[in-house]
Amino acid sequence: MNIGPYTLDILESGHFGLDGGAMFGVVPKTLWERAYAPADALNRIPMMARCLLLRSAERTILVDTGNTPLMPEKLQKIYGMDFSRVTLQASMARLGVTPEDVTDVVLTHLHFDHTGGSVQRVDETYMPAFTNARYYVQAEHWNWALHPTEKDRASFMTEFFLPLQEHGVLQLLDGPGEVLPHVHVELHNGHTKAMQSVRISDGSQTVFFPADVMPTGGHIAVPYVMGYDNFPLTSIQEKKLLLPRIVDEEWLVVFEHDALRQAARIVMGQKGPQLSDEQTITPFGAPEIAL
Ligand SMILES: [Zn+2]
Repeated sequence: MNIGPYTLDILESGHFGLDGGAMFGVVPKTLWERAYAPADALNRIPMMARCLLLRSAERTILVDTGNTPLMPEKLQKIYGMDFSRVTLQASMARLGVTPEDVTDVVLTHLHFDHTGGSVQRVDETYMPAFTNARYYVQAEHWNWALHPTEKDRASFMTEFFLPLQEHGVLQLLDGPGEVLPHVHVELHNGHTKAMQSVRISDGSQTVFFPADVMPTGGHIAVPYVMGYDNFPLTSIQEKKLLLPRIVDEEWLVVFEHDALRQAARIVMGQKGPQLSDEQTITPFGAPEIAL
């Protein structure tokens, strides 16, 4: 699709699976299975690590870099990671985009499933994967990632982001604003400190990438927040403030971790927010329900 000066595409970096209970916090399984998808024998639900690609005459922008096969094998098993069907590199290649083409990488936050593809391994050392790009991270989040809580420590793999600083391609941001033309970021503190959501708007249409504020279409109801969130009550407040804007201004929401749908709008139904107008922006074949 086109928005402002950009052609917008979806990139898929790999299937994975997380514990459904952890993904839906206090919500009972009978409810989240209905809202999203049935769990497998290990109670995992199917997930995707999805990224945005924005291309204009001047720039090629990536928003998040997803999962990576560089993840240690033991952890790939635990998280049910599957790179046999799709990887970030393959998704880009299908669209004729090379890593060298990328000029900017906006990282919503530094959890491994959002920043894994930021690096490549050359002779046992990790280097930036996009050699011509600047990488944008919120300064407050960068500091948090280096001093995480016990709750999200396991989600930060420093080899996926420290090389960005070491190679001088990191640009730390100080709060919300327009990072690149028509690309706005906003800060959220429920999931982790200073996560930035990304909004691309051209006046007539808006695409919204909420990252882990709403990781799947099963998470649009206000109390459906993740057990992973550091500050769940903050997540609830943030969703309450976002939903009326999403609904009233008819934003197209891209769900970063939804294995079943790429994007949808949200309408207010009698029982609360509902998905509407589900869209496949960049086709990748049939959605996978089983892991
Ligand atoms: Zn996260």
